[in-house]
Amino acid sequence: MKIVKTPKSRLHETDFDNLGFGDVFSDHMFSMVYDNGAWLPPEIIPFDNLSISPALSSLHYGQIIFEGLKAFRAHDGSINIFRPEKHHERLNKSCRRLCIPEVDGETFLNGIKELITLDKDWVPRKRGYSLYIRPFIYGADVYLGVKVSDTYRFLIITSPVGAYYKEGLNPVRLITSGEYVRAVKGGVGTAKTPGNYAASLLPAYEANKKGFTQVLWLDALERKYIEEVGTMNIFFLIDDELITPPLEGTILAGVTRDTVIHLARDWGMKVNERRLTIDEVLSAARGNRLKEVFGTGTAAVISPVGEIQHEQTLITINDGRIGSVSQKLYDEITGIQYGEKEDRFGWCYTI
Ligand SMILES: *Cc1c(COP(=O)(O)O)cnc(C)c1O
Repeated sequence: MKIVKTPKSRLHETDFDNLGFGDVFSDHMFSMVYDNGAWLPPEIIPFDNLSISPALSSLHYGQIIFEGLKAFRAHDGSINIFRPEKHHERLNKSCRRLCIPEVDGETFLNGIKELITLDKDWVPRKRGYSLYIRPFIYGADVYLGVKVSDTYRFLIITSPVGAYYKEGLNPVRLITSGEYVRAVKGGVGTAKTPGNYAASLLPAYEANKKGFTQVLWLDALERKYIEEVGTMNIFFLIDDELITPPLEGTILAGVTRDTVIHLARDWGMKVNERRLTIDEVLSAARGNRLKEVFGTGTAAVISPVGEIQHEQTLITINDGRIGSVSQKLYDEITGIQYGEKEDRFGWCYTI
């Protein structure tokens, strides 16, 4: 792969003991252009501003998809990328929905590998910290009509990030929305595409104003089935059954969701991907059968839920503290990611 190195590294300007999320970027980025019906040879170039036309089609109509995954520094200095094949699979699924040409697995994996090998010193050494990897593809035609772009650019940028929750796993407060929905069957809810996030900003803003962390999304048709939370998937432990909503066309198929399902089943837990109404959750809470609720996503891994507000009802889960299953899942997944626990499912791609 062609590599153009930066003349001046920014590594020493970065405080690796105090990292936030997504505001510092490593020295290089992966870049590949699609033109004349094919992806051209990829290259790695210095991270820099893009020069784009104000008439860039995707800037107006959002023909864009993205991914989010992480690389972790193990004690022996090696670097573990967590489940890149699964993220590649989802990238292509998003591509198909947005009429974006797919990217082959070798190009994706090799691109990440070469980029991180070059920028290996950007992978933080502090436990809890990691290198966030953001692949994305945008339509690159300069044209104001609504149509499928003929040209694209695929970029991968990386960002060293701190622990998602600085004070440990603090339970979040959720509220349902009577007004807004995230996705409808047949729409783009199953794709990682910017429009979904743009649509979620106002509901999230209003939830924040009321003192809640995130919106708990209910289905768009009947407004009773639970779907997702903010930008995470969601799990409920009712009695001894671990329940998460099924992937039926409105929910983003989270890699962390899949990881949790695998681990919990492997531990012999009863895990069901099934529909679940907000009323079932409230009634389980009333009967003291709702043990734990948590969100899952690459950024936070496991995000315990302490409270849920639905219409006039507010429930508190596990006294607003993290539950033992949530904690065990968090410890197991992060243990595998940092190379401290055996990677029995072959999830880490080590470089
Ligand atoms: C990215 C994302 C998730 C979580 O997916 P992971 O692969 O676990 O990071 C869940 N819901 C939405 C809407 C997302 O964008």
